[in-house]
Amino acid sequence: MDVRPVLFMNKTSMKEPPTPAAPPRAGAPAAPAPNFLRTVIAEDNRTGKYEGRVVTRFPPEPNGYLHYGHAKSIALNFGLAAENGGTCHLRYDDTNPLKEDVEFEDAIAASVRWLGYDWGAHRYHASDYYGDLYRFAEWFVSQGLAYVDSQSADEMRRSRGTLTEPGRPSASRDRTVIENLDLLRRMRAGEFPDGAHVLRLKIDMASPNLNLRDPAIYRIRHATHHRTGDAWCIYPLYDYTHCISDALERITHSICTLEFQDHRPLYDWVIDKLAGGGLLERPLPQQYEFARLNLTYVVLSKRKLIQLVEQGHVDGWDDPRMPTLVGARRRGFTPEGFRLFAERIGVSKSDSWIDMSVLEQAMRDDLNASAERRVAVLDPIRLVVENYPEGGFESTHAPNHPQQPELGQRERRFARELWIERDDFMEAPSKGYFRLAPGAEVRLRYAFIVRCTGFEKDADGNVTVVRCTYDPATKSGTPGAEARKVKGNIHWHAVDDAVPAEVRLYDRLFRVPFPGARLPHGARDASEPAPTHAIAVAGDEDAEDGAERDYLDDLNPDSKRVIRAYVEPALATAPPESRFQFERHGYFVADLADHAAGRPVYNRAVPLKDPWGRAGG
Ligand code: ATP
Ligand code: MG
Repeated sequence: MDVRPVLFMNKTSMKEPPTPAAPPRAGAPAAPAPNFLRTVIAEDNRTGKYEGRVVTRFPPEPNGYLHYGHAKSIALNFGLAAENGGTCHLRYDDTNPLKEDVEFEDAIAASVRWLGYDWGAHRYHASDYYGDLYRFAEWFVSQGLAYVDSQSADEMRRSRGTLTEPGRPSASRDRTVIENLDLLRRMRAGEFPDGAHVLRLKIDMASPNLNLRDPAIYRIRHATHHRTGDAWCIYPLYDYTHCISDALERITHSICTLEFQDHRPLYDWVIDKLAGGGLLERPLPQQYEFARLNLTYVVLSKRKLIQLVEQGHVDGWDDPRMPTLVGARRRGFTPEGFRLFAERIGVSKSDSWIDMSVLEQAMRDDLNASAERRVAVLDPIRLVVENYPEGGFESTHAPNHPQQPELGQRERRFARELWIERDDFMEAPSKGYFRLAPGAEVRLRYAFIVRCTGFEKDADGNVTVVRCTYDPATKSGTPGAEARKVKGNIHWHAVDDAVPAEVRLYDRLFRVPFPGARLPHGARDASEPAPTHAIAVAGDEDAEDGAERDYLDDLNPDSKRVIRAYVEPALATAPPESRFQFERHGYFVADLADHAAGRPVYNRAVPLKDPWGRAGG
């Protein structure tokens, strides 16, 4: 089975190949494959840099639901900590009072737990540090290392310079410590409207790194914060908050996505100065950057996900087609599958694209190992066994898992009238078709060999009933039953005890690998390098938007099909979230929200074989 990730690299990063994917494994936990982060940590442990401590953090902004990309970051941060007997903190990066909410915090925590990770007592908020962050800001001012700038946002942007031109110092840059301290305290006291001033670090307006050209660290925002209420009307900015939060929590390895590479000198500058002033403890955390997950056939930008929900293209954040973790859960994807996926794609320092089939195959491999087998007839027609007594029945036995005999067998009733799949019969069989056709023989799986004796059609020419006779000497599991070989082997379910069920057949949300990419459909497939415009360089997915077609035009109109099927009675009483292989069809899950005893609803997670024709299973 070919499960190599399909990788695309942009030209500038070709020199650094991604960490090779781990070999395929079904279910079993990973023997860690080497990657640059594991190497760094092993080296730090060897030199005793952090006295053997490994403390990472996962820092989501509570402004939305977690998506598949976050799963990569979670698996990485929690995984590295666990491998090293360390801890991983869950820290809400809640410095933007306008967009954040407790509802999101709870959903984020639930998703991290669902993935199988635990932060123990280490649940924090950046807002826990508002007091320290402000105290440190006054310290920077007192050291002449920060000033209050009264330029407008526009003026500040214009005086920042470019990659080739140095920035121009603001007239406010020469304010005295006394003046700055007074202004900062009055900012904090709420004397000024939004945007009147900002607090900036005084670093270097001519630095070749734009992030070091006196970055703003506090802004005025008269807004109510979901945790601190109206206690503050000035809020610290990300670059300032993040490194200090890391240092206060004694994080050792602060792992973030590539777009923060150019921010690393600022990260180091801030905490090094504070440690020099005795305000933070050494050894300080070290930031490392890895390539974010870019996945074909979905979008992972929060803005687009919001649009999909708000415009009703999907049935909510937990729609099984959404690339959110709440959606994945309802889809029947598994935490183990995500961990397997994360291990297979590895960690690299260069941007790349992973084909959706790699994620689907990880789910398939995990579900193949963990899901019991059941029978569902998705498109039923009646099969009448003419030589079987009317009203009679007998037991047959089917293994719950063909590779795991310890999971036992279940009894299935054989009777005169059965449901079979419509496409397991052909009136005029095509070449290579080995299932039912007039005169043809097949095995009814785990039961008998039957021979087709005829069929009936309705006025429109649709087959309504197929007729057959069975051979009592061929009952599976009895001596000599396997003596006669037939090529076809189909599933069936007795009409009398079949339970009707709603089955939702989900498929990919988009019909092209790069939704919104400008090339005509089919002009490029996922096995060819992506043109640069399709690459979400350095994590700024939205950067591609301006020049794009509308990604909504690429929605797959067949991503959800609801059908009525017949299933084994056991499927009707299984609890929500039970996952099964429906034999010959794929992996299905009892819907978390809508499935109930007597009203079964199943969602398809993945079909048995990849219909998109990549990593065929
Ligand atoms: P988005 O771009 O979807 O809005 P974000 O980076 O703004 O995501 P955060 O809540 O800030 O979302 O992300 C929390 C953590 O998850 C960060 O450390 C971020 O680097 C990581 N992360 C976000 N998206 C991805 C991704 N596609 N691949 C890997 N890690 C990601
Ligand atoms: Mg972010």
